Amino acid sequence: MANFGFPNPYPPVDPPDVAQRVNEAIQRLQERGALRDDHCPRCGVFDWEVDFIAIPSVPLPNAGLNLQGNVVMHVGISSPSSYIPALTLVCRNCGNTIIHNLKKLGLVGGK
Ligand SMILES: [Zn+2]
Repeated sequence: MANFGFPNPYPPVDPPDVAQRVNEAIQRLQERGALRDDHCPRCGVFDWEVDFIAIPSVPLPNAGLNLQGNVVMHVGISSPSSYIPALTLVCRNCGNTIIHNLKKLGLVGGK
């Protein structure tokens, strides 16, 4: 984008580092057999958007999801107690979204 001589107020966010992280994640998924076919399993198009995100999470109550049918579970609105570091692959054609846990891939601390 041309800046017409004005300083760029939105400097690029270190693209080489992001590209390196994406390549490392894609390589890890291929090593583990999770990307046998590069095309979207829903629509067959090859046009992906790749992002790293943190999914806020709260622990389930002790009863988990095995609540009786007549029990209403209220989820409190509060700060999440943890985050799930994730890699998302979003098909630009149909919106199919695939989420991989970065901890399980060994791409962030812990397993
Ligand atoms: Zn698709």
